[in-house]
Amino acid sequence: MRNAVLLVIMSPVVLWAQISPLSPEQRATFHGRMSEAVEPFHIVGNIYYVGARNIASYLITTPEGHIMIDTGTKEMHDVIRANVAKLGFKLKDIKILLSGHAHFDHVQGHAAMKKVTGAQVMALGEDARALSAGTDISPLGDEGWEPVKVDRVLKDGDTVTLGGITLRAIWTPGHTPGCTTWTTRVQEKGRPYSIVFQACGVPNAGVKLVGNTKFPTLVEDTLRSFRIQKTLKPDIYLPMHPESYLAGKVEAIKAGKTPHPLLDPEGYAKLVADTETNFQKRVQEERTKTSPPEK
Ligand SMILES: [Zn+2]
Repeated sequence: MRNAVLLVIMSPVVLWAQISPLSPEQRATFHGRMSEAVEPFHIVGNIYYVGARNIASYLITTPEGHIMIDTGTKEMHDVIRANVAKLGFKLKDIKILLSGHAHFDHVQGHAAMKKVTGAQVMALGEDARALSAGTDISPLGDEGWEPVKVDRVLKDGDTVTLGGITLRAIWTPGHTPGCTTWTTRVQEKGRPYSIVFQACGVPNAGVKLVGNTKFPTLVEDTLRSFRIQKTLKPDIYLPMHPESYLAGKVEAIKAGKTPHPLLDPEGYAKLVADTETNFQKRVQEERTKTSPPEK
């Protein structure tokens, strides 16, 4: 009874801190080092990196305005604003705000970015619900954010089009219930590139996979998402925590080196395969642990 009373009077902040497998140190890294400013740069076609050290924000520019994928932590708001300006683009020209998944490190800046740009927020299914609630409703259950109005709720396979650019939302749940793999095609020097924004991996470390009563289909959902990702064949994929992926390549990308330093048609298939192998191992380990000992 006393515990129940305690739970009621605890602030929401304390509650998520107790539920989430993220440690205070990890959380501090997201808001600290990972959110630090880095120079923005042109990636490929009309896609630009405007994010922080290890949390991405991608800007896709068009003659009719721009699309932004992910707004990062609250600490990244000024970083992203400065980066957009450094590249010579105007914040006011951002017309659409998208997200890979509704976790604080990717959408905490949405409300502030919507306020300064007036952009339409579009998000898929349960992630749209999380955005407008301001709550992490995923298996991670971590920090929330300022609730933001979702102007368009997307379904699996929906497209977002602006200024001749089309992005497709592919529902790939697991990491969050509305996790979205965005795909698009861009041109550079006459060559087409298919692009995947890779935002949907496995549920966070520490999340219970087998017999998770709140998310009973978590394992099946994640496996299904791998099957879908295996059908995608991007020339280039762009991750949402890109520091190690981009390490040693940024200067070559900035210099416009050919072939494109990120061009790797086999890379994505390998990433998905490796991620699935590790996931299967994790599921197996949990099953071994939870099954009764042999007599
Ligand atoms: Zn996440």
